[in-house]
Amino acid sequence: MVDIHSAISSVLTNKRRIGALKKLGVITIADAIGYYPFRATNRVPVKSIDDIKIGENVAFSATVMDTRVTPMSARNGYRVEVRVSDGSRVDARLVYFTYKKYYVSYITNRLYAGAQLAVQGMPSEYGGFIQFTHPQTCVVRDDSFDVPRSGEADTIEEAIDRLSRPRPVYHANSTISSEHIHESIVSMLKALAGEMPTIRKEEDASPEVLDESIVDIEKLCHVIPDVIPESVRAQRNLLHKAEAIIAIHLPSDEQNFNRGIETLRYEEALISQTAMVKMREDNSSAHAYSCVDEQGYVERLISSLPFKLTGGQQDVIKEITRDMTSGKPMSRLLQGEVGSGKTIVALAALLQAVGAGKQAVIVAPTQVLAQQHIASISNMLTAAGLSEIPIVLLHSGMKLAERRRALSIPASGVPCIVVATHAAFAKTFQAPHLAIAVIDEQHRFGVEQREILRSEINTDGMVPHMLVMTATPIPRSAAMTWFGNLDISWLTELPGGRKPIRTVLVQENDGATMRKVFIHARQRIDAGERVYVVCARIDDDTEIDETMDSFTDELFNPQTGEPIEDSNRRTLHSVNEISERLRSLPQFSGIEIQTLTGRDDDETKNAVMERFANGEAPVLVATTVIEVGVDVPQASCIIIFDADNYGLSQLHQLRGRVGRGGTQSWAFLVNNAQPGSVAEERLDVIKNSLDGAVIAQADLELRGAGDVLGDSQSGIASSFKLLRVVQDAEVIVHAREDAEALIEKDKNLSVEPELLGAVLDFERETAEYLKSS
Ligand code: ADP
Ligand code: MG
Repeated sequence: MVDIHSAISSVLTNKRRIGALKKLGVITIADAIGYYPFRATNRVPVKSIDDIKIGENVAFSATVMDTRVTPMSARNGYRVEVRVSDGSRVDARLVYFTYKKYYVSYITNRLYAGAQLAVQGMPSEYGGFIQFTHPQTCVVRDDSFDVPRSGEADTIEEAIDRLSRPRPVYHANSTISSEHIHESIVSMLKALAGEMPTIRKEEDASPEVLDESIVDIEKLCHVIPDVIPESVRAQRNLLHKAEAIIAIHLPSDEQNFNRGIETLRYEEALISQTAMVKMREDNSSAHAYSCVDEQGYVERLISSLPFKLTGGQQDVIKEITRDMTSGKPMSRLLQGEVGSGKTIVALAALLQAVGAGKQAVIVAPTQVLAQQHIASISNMLTAAGLSEIPIVLLHSGMKLAERRRALSIPASGVPCIVVATHAAFAKTFQAPHLAIAVIDEQHRFGVEQREILRSEINTDGMVPHMLVMTATPIPRSAAMTWFGNLDISWLTELPGGRKPIRTVLVQENDGATMRKVFIHARQRIDAGERVYVVCARIDDDTEIDETMDSFTDELFNPQTGEPIEDSNRRTLHSVNEISERLRSLPQFSGIEIQTLTGRDDDETKNAVMERFANGEAPVLVATTVIEVGVDVPQASCIIIFDADNYGLSQLHQLRGRVGRGGTQSWAFLVNNAQPGSVAEERLDVIKNSLDGAVIAQADLELRGAGDVLGDSQSGIASSFKLLRVVQDAEVIVHAREDAEALIEKDKNLSVEPELLGAVLDFERETAEYLKSS
C-alpha cells in the first residue's frame, strides 16, 4: 500500500527514470503530484484524413487496412507501416521504426487489420502519402477478444476524446521529457488510488493513453487531504485538492485545467496568509518593554541635526514612539528610497530604547555598512552631546579576544547601541535588556533576521521591538505576502533638495560614446568628485559575483518546457580586467584606481574605502559589494558594466550610491542589450524612472516573482509554485480575508487540522531555509 509519503521507487521501477525525477527534486509521491505542469496544450483538432494539413497536429478516427513490416538491412532494424482509412479519398500511413522484434509484434498485434482506432500526431508527407511517425493511437475494444486489453476504449468517441484532450506540459530537462514526467505522475496517482501500477516492459512502446477515467477520484479524495476548509472551498467555488490534482495532471479541457490551477494557487495563498495572520496574532499577545525615553535622547538628537527632518521622517518617528511605548512588540517595515534618510529614523528608534535604560541593536547586511553606521552614529551622537552612550561594533571578522570584549558590553546589561553584521548577530549575542532591533537594508525580501529575532532572543520573557528597513519598495501585494505580519511606513520624499540622478544607457560596442563616458568621469574627478565602476565578477576565474542579483533572458522554452542551452552567453567583465583597462587609458592618467571585492579582508576594505572617500584614489572598481548603503557624498558618477545582466532593483540600488552630496550625478549603464529585447525594455525602465516602487513593479512584471525574489533569497518564495505576488494580488487579498476569518473563529485552527499542518509545514520550511543559510 502506498501513501503520499512513499518514495517514488515504491511505484516506479525504472532506475533511470527515478534518478531523473530525483534531479527535479521529486523524491516522494507527494513531490510528484506537487510537480505542477506550467501549462496545458490546446485540444487537438479532429478532422477527416482528407482535411489533414501537413505539419498541423491532428486527431482522427479510422480503421486499420493492413500492416507491413520491412526489415531495414542497413540499420538492422524494422519499419512497420500501418495503413489506415476513414473512407476519405486518401488513406494515411502510421510508421514505426524499431530495432526490437518484440516491439514489431506488439504493434502488429495491437493494430490488427480491421481494428477501429483513433490516431493523434503530426502529419508529414513521404513518397506522396500522408505519414504519421510514431503517432499516439487508441484502439476501440473488440468484444470478440476474451480478455480486454489494456488502454483500449469502449467507443470511438471515447478514443478520440482521449487523444485530442489537452495535455499538461512540465518543466523538463535533458534527462527526462515532459511526456515521461507526465506518465510517471499518472502512475503514481493510480497507485495512490489503490490500483496496481502497470509495469510495461516495452519502454519505447507508444504510451498508454492517459485520461482522468483511469484514476478513481473518490478513492483519491481519501488519500489526498484537502487543505482548504470546506466552507472556503464552497464560497470561493474551488475544487477538492484531489480533484484539482487530477484536473492539472489529467485535464479534460482547458477550463478544467485552469480551475485546478486556481484551486492550488488559492491554497498557497491561504497557507501563507494564515501563517502571517497567526504570526501577527501570536505577536500581539506577546509582551515587550514599554520604552519611554526618560533621558530625552531623541529630542536632543533631533535638535542637534544640521537640517530639519522631513515631514515623512517626523511622522515615522512618531509612529515608532507610539509602537515602542505600547507594551506590545512593534513589527514595522520602513520603506524608503535610497537616500530618503532612514538612518536618522533608525537612530531615533535606538535612542528611544537607550533613553528608557534598555539596549538596542542595529543589524547591517555587510561589514562595510556596519562600519559606516558606527561612524555616522557616533558623529551624530557626538554632535548631540550624547557621546557617553556606548556603541559596540560586532562582526564575524573580529579576533576572539576583541569579540569577547565587544560581547561583554551588551551581556552586562548596560544601556548601549550595538551595530552588528547579521552573521555576527546570529551567534552568541546576548543582551538581557534588548528592547529593539533595527534591521537595515532588507532589499532582498529576506526574512532571516526577523525570524532569528523572533525565535532566539527573548529577554525577561520580552519580545524585542523590531524595525525592518528596506530601500526596495515592494508592491503592496508582495508586501502582504512577505511582510504580511508587519505594519508599514513609507518615506516618500528625498531630503535636502537632492538633484535627480541622470541615467544614460551606453552600448558597449559604441566606442565613441564609451570614450565620452570616460572623459566625463575624468572631468568629474578633476572637479573633486568620485567615480564608482561596477563589474559582475572579480576575475576571469570567478563565477558571477555572489551578491549579484543576476538576470537572464529566458530559462525555459515556453513550448516544450526544456531548458535552453546558453553556450553562447558572453562572459561578463571582471574587476581585474576593467581596472587594468582603465589604468591604461589616457583619460585616467595620473589617477589612482583601486579595487574592492568580497574577497578583500576587512582591513583592506576599510583602507580602500577611506582612500576613496578622502579622494586620494578617486576611482573605485568594485563588485556589487558597494551596493548597500555605502555613503560617499562626493561620489557623482557610477559606471556599471554588463548592466543588462542585473536585476532592476539592484541597478536602482547601485545608482543610489551617487548624488548623495547635492551635486549633479550620473549613472552610465554599459550594456549589450539587443534592440527590442526584454533586456532593453528593462533598462529603459531604469532610465526613465527614479521611483523605486515603479522599478520594483516592473522588475516583477518583466521577470516574474520567482526570479526577483530568487529561490535562494527567500525561503518563502521557494514554497510558492503558482502564486505570483503581482498578478495574483487579488487572490492574496481574498486569502487574507479568509485567513483572518478562520483565525478569528478558531485561533488555533483546531477544527482545521489539515490547514494547520500545512501552515506549520510552511513555517518549518521557512525556518529550515533560514538555518541552512
Ligand atoms: P538611506 O535612507 O538611503 O539610508 P541615509 O539615512 O543614509 O539614507 O541618508 C542619506 C543622506 O541624507 C545622509 O547624508 C543624511 O545625513 C541626509 N539626510 C537625512 N535626512 C535629511 C533631512 N531631513 N534633510 C537633509 N538631509 C538629510
Ligand atoms: Mg541606509
